[in-house]
Amino acid sequence: MKIAVYPGSFDPLTNGHLDILKRAASLFDHVIVGVLVNSNKKCLFSPEERVDMINDAIHDLENVRVMHFNGLMVDFCEKVGATAVIRGLRAVSDYEYEVQMFAANYHLNSKVETVFLMSQPKYSFLSSSVVKEIAYYGGNINEMVTPGIAELLKKRMKE
Ligand code: ADP
Repeated sequence: MKIAVYPGSFDPLTNGHLDILKRAASLFDHVIVGVLVNSNKKCLFSPEERVDMINDAIHDLENVRVMHFNGLMVDFCEKVGATAVIRGLRAVSDYEYEVQMFAANYHLNSKVETVFLMSQPKYSFLSSSVVKEIAYYGGNINEMVTPGIAELLKKRMKE
């Protein structure tokens, strides 16, 4: 059984994330979305809120489940029995950071392979921060996130 982890902040999950997740789910027996808790980033949504919103978005994906984690990603992979990590690549700008992450993780545990999936062109501009910025100014985010997440964002921005 081939298990992969798709780690990230997902603050919030975008349609670009969802596309990578669906494609990863067709390649692996099981995919676990790992919502990062100990990131230095200040998040708009709590880990629990992010897990809930991803669960809502993936109910039709039978081989995907969501967990939050802190600590090292390779330790999380070991804990859940994953032998691969999925990362999405958008523009050239993602590349340098991803190479660093790959090198660090490979050094820590070379049994965990990193698999890069290229973003579809239509999502290559899309990031959680762009979505938050547009939502903050009341712009239309309907093509960027699921309807449920759009509602949550609008509500949070009013608070
Ligand atoms: P991180 O904090 O690790 O950068 P993100 O939530 O921003 O977490 O992203 C998680 C993963 O999804 C990363 O591999 C990132 O490159 C990828 N990703 C983010 N946005 C997109 C997108 N629009 N299309 C494809 N992959 C994406």
